[in-house]
Amino acid sequence: MKINHLARINILKLNPYQSARKLGGKGNIWLNANEAPTSFTYINKNYNNLNRYPDCQPKTIIRNYASYAGVQPDQILVSRGADEGIELLMRAFCEPNKDAIIFCPPTYGMYNICAETLGIKRHIIPSIANTNWQLDLPAINLKLKNVKLIYICNPNNPTGNIINQYDIKKLLHLINNRALLIIDEAYIDFCLHASLVSWLSKFSNLVILRTLSKAFALAGLRCGFTIANAEIIKLLLKVITPYPLPSLVIDIAEQALTKKGLSQTNKRINTINKNRNYLAQELTKCPCIKQVFPSVSNYILIKVYPQYEVFKKLWNMGIILRDQSKQLGLSNCIRITIGTYQECKYVANILQQLNTT
Ligand SMILES: *Cc1c(COP(=O)(O)O)cnc(C)c1O
Repeated sequence: MKINHLARINILKLNPYQSARKLGGKGNIWLNANEAPTSFTYINKNYNNLNRYPDCQPKTIIRNYASYAGVQPDQILVSRGADEGIELLMRAFCEPNKDAIIFCPPTYGMYNICAETLGIKRHIIPSIANTNWQLDLPAINLKLKNVKLIYICNPNNPTGNIINQYDIKKLLHLINNRALLIIDEAYIDFCLHASLVSWLSKFSNLVILRTLSKAFALAGLRCGFTIANAEIIKLLLKVITPYPLPSLVIDIAEQALTKKGLSQTNKRINTINKNRNYLAQELTKCPCIKQVFPSVSNYILIKVYPQYEVFKKLWNMGIILRDQSKQLGLSNCIRITIGTYQECKYVANILQQLNTT
């Protein structure tokens, strides 16, 4: 029996998200998924209650993350990664085939894919390259009709820049009661002073996404957070599955959010930030690199001269980077995740010696 004709047309047309894991590669140096380079060991409890369903919103996690973020527990939703938060917002707020979202490439790919999967319209408003990818507010303003959600990634993945707070404030005033502004703060732990969490009390239509996947070094855990005013959280709780987090995930997330866990994460953040500044410096000395974009995150975007075939040559040496050339405005751009100091040094060394043959 043929199955394809049964599928929804938008799914048949869908170009699925190309995750770093799916794209694969072979080698020893993995700098393609913005993961932390090292892992801590977590203690597994002796589980004797896996016959029972877990809590939907485990209290300890909610309480401890609220305290870390500086908000009230009723302003937090925990989910299967920030990716689930991205989707829950669309499912709770957008009527399929009627409402629209806005996002501003080059940026994280899941806003687009998620909307496409759910049959939600997309207004794509590129950010302005020669302003280090700031928002094009006049263009956004022209496209606000039927828009319910605006996704802004801050700091932006893959470019690494912070979005002007002044622009974000202007945008919040512009959309006022018509739409929600979602700030994806997946990388904010590397530059916490730039978080907009403190604005939640002033703007009831602001939503912030967070995750344990990046700075907390727990990409394998699949645990993320949505922070917003309690009214929004209540709506999302209607849409989320009854048991989004496995008991084992809850256990480890709780350990990561203890005082000890948080202090380990803080140390890791300091190390990554130091390694990033070191790598950024070294990359400016590479003949194959045309431009090193400033970053406040755990990755650096570079623009290379095509004749050096940087991505392919490093791939063949077992150094797996993330090719960004297919993203809008990013031809010949590669994103490098910050690894250990040794990894940074090794990669910098290779890039400095690369030639065109
Ligand atoms: C990695 C990433 C996410 C996904 O986070 P998970 O918690 O692993 O689902 C969301 N947004 C951005 C910008 C990311 O880079």
